[in-house]
Order: sequence, then C-alpha cells, then structure tokens
Amino acid sequence: MALDQPFIDEVRRNLAAGTITHYIEGKWLPGVRAETFETFDPSTNQTLATVYRGHAEDIDSAAKAAHAAFFKWSRVKAKDRKKFLLKIASLIEKYGDEIAVTECLDAGQALKIVRGQIARAAENFSFYADWAERAMDGRTFPVDNDWLNYSVRVPVAVCGIITPWNAPLMLSTWRIAPALATGNTVILKPAEWSPLTAWKLAKIFEEAELPAGVFNVVHGFGEEAGAPLVAHPLVPLITLTGETTTGSIVMRNAADQIKRLSLELGGKSPAIIFADADLERALDATVFQIYSFNGERCTANSRALIQKDVFDRFVDQLAQRAKAVKVGSPLDPQTEVGPLIHPEHLERVTGYIQIGQQEGAVLRAGGHRIGDTGNYLAPTLFTGENGMRIAQEEIFGPVLTAIPFSDEADALAMANDVRYGLASYVWTKDVERAHRMALNLEAGMTWINSHNVRHLPTPFGGVKFSGTHREGGDHSFEFYTELKHIAVPLGQHAIPKFGKS
Ligand code: NAD
Repeated sequence: MALDQPFIDEVRRNLAAGTITHYIEGKWLPGVRAETFETFDPSTNQTLATVYRGHAEDIDSAAKAAHAAFFKWSRVKAKDRKKFLLKIASLIEKYGDEIAVTECLDAGQALKIVRGQIARAAENFSFYADWAERAMDGRTFPVDNDWLNYSVRVPVAVCGIITPWNAPLMLSTWRIAPALATGNTVILKPAEWSPLTAWKLAKIFEEAELPAGVFNVVHGFGEEAGAPLVAHPLVPLITLTGETTTGSIVMRNAADQIKRLSLELGGKSPAIIFADADLERALDATVFQIYSFNGERCTANSRALIQKDVFDRFVDQLAQRAKAVKVGSPLDPQTEVGPLIHPEHLERVTGYIQIGQQEGAVLRAGGHRIGDTGNYLAPTLFTGENGMRIAQEEIFGPVLTAIPFSDEADALAMANDVRYGLASYVWTKDVERAHRMALNLEAGMTWINSHNVRHLPTPFGGVKFSGTHREGGDHSFEFYTELKHIAVPLGQHAIPKFGKS
C-alpha cells in the first residue's frame, strides 16, 4: 500500500527537527560529550537526521541504569512482562506507517520488504511474550530415594545487543524480545548508518511505560560505543550481528571478561540447482534471494551453483529477470530494489564488480550504477568459477555469481569450499539427494526447494565464519538465561568428617 506524500514529508520533518538522542534510564540524553554524526537518505545522500554520538561514558551510564533495573525487572511477574511485550507489539503495529517511512528513508530498503520486516518486528514481541511464562522451566533429576536435584533457568542480567544497518528493526527486536521476556535488561547499540528506527523503538518503550533502565539505546560508532559495551564489566552477554571481521574483534575484546557471546556474521550462501528441479520456482527464489533487501542480506544466495545440463538456459533466464527487476525509490510500493546504504558501501560493491571482470568472470546483467544521485546499482549477474573472489567473499550487494557443476559430489564440494556457512538452498525433486545434500552441507540452515522462509521457533545461525550460535525459539531462551543446578538431599546423607578425630 502506498503512503501519502504529505505523511512522508511530515515523518521526514520530524526526523530532521532535533538531534536524535540516546535513551538511558528512561531519559532522552545527548550523552556526556554531546558530539554528533549524520545519517543520510541513501536515495539522495542528503542528511536525514543528526544523531548524538555515544562514547564509553554513555555506555557506562546505560550499563549502570540497566544493572540497577535488572533487580526490579527480573522480579516482575512473567505474566506482567508478557503484557509489556504484547503492548510493544501492538504499538509497533500502530506506528507501522511511521516506522516504514523511517526505515525506507534511513536504510534504503524497499517499502514492500520493510512492511514485512515491521510485521516480523511486532511478531518477535508477541511470539516471545507467549513464551515468557514457560521460559524458566528446568528438569528434575531424582537420585534413588536420596536426592531430588533439579535445574532452573534464571536471567543472565544486562544484555548488550549490537546490530547492523541492513534490517535494523527486525534484527534488533528478535534479540530484545527474548532478552526482556526472560527478565534481562537491554542496551541496544544500533548501526551508525541506520540508527533511526532504534530511536522510534525507544519512543515505543516509553509509551508502553516500561520501567526506566530496562531498555536503553546508545547511538554511535563501533569502536567508540560498541567496543566499550563489549568491554563493560556490568554487561555479561553480547549478541552481535555484523561482519565476520567485527565478530572476531568482538570475540577478542570479550575474552578478558569471559562473556557469553552470540555472533551472527557474514555469508556466501549457495543455491544449488539440479537439472531435475522445478526450474521455474528455483528461478523465482534465486532471483528473490539475491536481489531482495538490495542484496544486503546475510542469507542471500550470492552463489548459484547450477547443473551443467541446464546451466545456459537457467543463466539466460536469470539475466532476463535481473535486468527486469524494478530499481527505484524505496518508498515506491512497486520498487523491488532500492539504493545501497551508503556511498562507501556502493564503492565497495562496485569494487567487487571490477574485481570480477579482472578475474575473467562474464558480466551477464547489470554491473553499473543507475543515475548519479543516490546509491542505486543495477542488479548484477556474473558467470564465473567458485575460486574467484566474487564467489568467495561476501559482497553484501545485488551481485550474483552463477557457477556450473557436473554432479552431486561436485556441487557439494563447491558449496562447502568457502569460509562461510550460514544458509544453503537445494533445488531438486530427488528426495534422497535433497536430504543427503542438506546433511552434508556446511551451513547452519538449509532450505530444500524453498527460499528463506523464517519460522520463529526454529534455530537460526551459521557455522564456520558465519557465527557461533543459534537463536530463535528455545535456542534464544537458552542463550538469554543461565541454567542452574540445585541439589536437595532428602535425608541425612553422609558428610565426610574432616578434622574430627
Ligand atoms: P559491521 O560489522 O560493520 O557492524 C555491525 C555492528 O557492529 C554495528 O553496530 C557497528 O557499529 C558495530 N561494531 C563495529 N565495530 C565494533 C567493535 N569493534 N566493537 C563492537 N561493535 C562494533 O556490519 P554491518 O556492515 O553493519 O552489517 C553487514 C554485515 O552484517 C554483513 O557481513 C552481514 O552478513 C552481516 N549480517 C549477518 C546476519 C546474520 O544473521 N548472520 C544478519 C544481518 C547482517
């Protein structure tokens, strides 16, 4: 559904009206140093809003506030925490249009994608609200008739949530919701290239009257605000979604404090298309799974491994579809691909297009910028080889490399011959082969004859350089809680009598 221009203008004016503050202990603050940075509209590269730039002092205030709030929030009854979460879900829905405009303007994502993300953000809260009351269960371990041992779950305490710029609202809410449902408090450090929906989310928390300090937002850059969050002694848990290089820095920085870490990192996921597949559906899914989210999608199938018998035909069709993808303003409801987030990122992605050509890959579609304002890039298709840098490194843009394979063994070897292991997609009508492949693919997630359709209870996460953990459903509760063992003797068990003669 299209949004009115006057409404879009009003949201834009509101974003530009004042400097975007941190949200610490229920207060809107400029931060100790009151330095600022600008966030840009990627369709024009004009300033959209000015944002306060947080540092270690602001993280310290947020950590102290969240730590103090933890003792109260963790004792709020689960059914009341659930009510708060449900209220947040309904407020996200209520402000859906305003959030949609903000996310389109700030992240450059197309409205039709953003609408789905907002629905998911609300669902993240309603889904985990429902689980709040059953999250803390444990097991009993009766030992003969002598002991009744049991385990319980308790919240961890203050959770540091660090998010990337590509899908800011959806990616933050699916960490915030389970963290709060289980009685933790939260400090969110959103990405500096798209911080605005985090600010709107804080407004929603304020309206939901969540106790002060339970949810805090500190804006700023990775080294200045993210790193102090990772190092802070009052923050025992960090979840980071971002680049693999950032993940390894965060891992090193968290080591001194022995922190609990969940790292959701980069990907170079293959779509493996066998000749016997439903090729029309495989084509739809492969095109969607690389060009949706402007190609800035961790689970993008950025490699299409296609069986030789159908390679030429399939690549012709891929090229035709890539050329027909609608590139345009994120706020146009017809747009399928919007501008890349930032001129620096555009430069990085176009750099890879040059690398591909230097490596001898054949450009079959796109490869060029569209217009000279904004960061628009034509959906790009190469044919090449798996060893090329464009097939090995995460580009995080609308660039697909199609590679031929001969048989199942060849496909599997190529699919796994990459340092990442986030997602994979297998297209075949041979059921045995599909499951064999899924079992042997080095990937945290495999979709068979499907694109990435998320189901919140199922685990999400990668292997190898794509990350360390799983979140979603029970897996989130495991991550955001501590499992404690409690032992109770049912009688007078023998105690050694050291020191007694
Ligand atoms: P990034 O690593 O540059 O930044 C991510 C976040 O980390 C930002 O908030 C940034 O400020 C912060 N950060 C940077 N350096 C830090 C440091 N030293 N200490 C603490 N925080 C620091 O990533 P990006 O460019 O914003 O996002 C794109 C990347 O995210 C891609 O690699 C993509 O694959 C990945 N991603 C992964 C998933 C997933 O679920 N696996 C989902 C979305 C995006």
